[in-house]
Amino acid sequence: MWDKDGKIWMDGQFVDWRDAKIHVLTHTLHYGMGVFEGIRCYEADQGPAIFRLGEHVERLFKSALILGMEMPYSRDVISQVCQDVIKLNGLKSGYIRPLMYYGAESMGINPAPLKTHGMVAAWAWGAYLGEEGMEKGIRIKTSSYTRHHPNVVMTRAKAVGNYPNSILAKSEALRCGYDEALLLDTEGYVAEGSGENLFLVQGQTLKTPPLDSALNGITRNTVMTIAAEMGLKVVEQRFPRDEVLVSDEAFFTGTAAEVTPIRELDDRQIGPGHAGPVTKEVQKRFFDIVHGRDPKHMGWLTPVI
Ligand code: PMP
Repeated sequence: MWDKDGKIWMDGQFVDWRDAKIHVLTHTLHYGMGVFEGIRCYEADQGPAIFRLGEHVERLFKSALILGMEMPYSRDVISQVCQDVIKLNGLKSGYIRPLMYYGAESMGINPAPLKTHGMVAAWAWGAYLGEEGMEKGIRIKTSSYTRHHPNVVMTRAKAVGNYPNSILAKSEALRCGYDEALLLDTEGYVAEGSGENLFLVQGQTLKTPPLDSALNGITRNTVMTIAAEMGLKVVEQRFPRDEVLVSDEAFFTGTAAEVTPIRELDDRQIGPGHAGPVTKEVQKRFFDIVHGRDPKHMGWLTPVI
């Protein structure tokens, strides 16, 4: 067990980290039906602040709606718990993980007898793809695994069962000596990373795949706003993987990955082979926003007091 001091919220109560346990017949453990979020809290100049909490909670509820899971808690309760879990664990910054899952009330595919349960944990977490990657850019590999078709599992939901696909792709990429995977959709067009959305820089345009097979990333949406403020045009359009190679720059976005430059795809250098000027500017503006240094976007921060 990943042993730690601290408290985790489970179904209305804060319990010790070590006692936050579930039964082995927990339905989600067997069949993967569950929804979750990944949220970051940053040490802003004004104190700890959760970035775009409202949007993350909304996506959690939409994910549950898509999967037909009844939510036993209100948006307000989940929002409050996300703040409390930071406070109670004495974190100045960190990663917040709410998960809604089916319990051990019954086995079998039919979810009717099952109850939805909830947990929220938080812990300190640095740069997901490494400090060096953040600075110099990462190396990625086109995955041999295809991203989900929207009619296999509905990709608009951040569903537990979507992630074996990500884990297979990520571990294949790491095993082959790369930092991250690039997954293509069922028709062979670029979809996203194992836990990130992708952007290409082409002159004054940012290009990103549409949401057919990619998650509706909140960082993706943030970067689109930043791009508009930088006077860049944003295009959501399908593209094949060779378009990544001929772009000026490329970067991944995600709550964990933040804004991570990509320097190579399949051993071929992209643009300058390190973080390019547009990526660096987007990254700088992103970190200014999350640290409360951009007065235009203070509304995206929920102070933890
Ligand atoms: N795609 C996938 C598959 C993800 O898991 C994530 C992380 N939630 C993202 C994209 C990025 O989404 P966000 O910016 O909301 O974290």
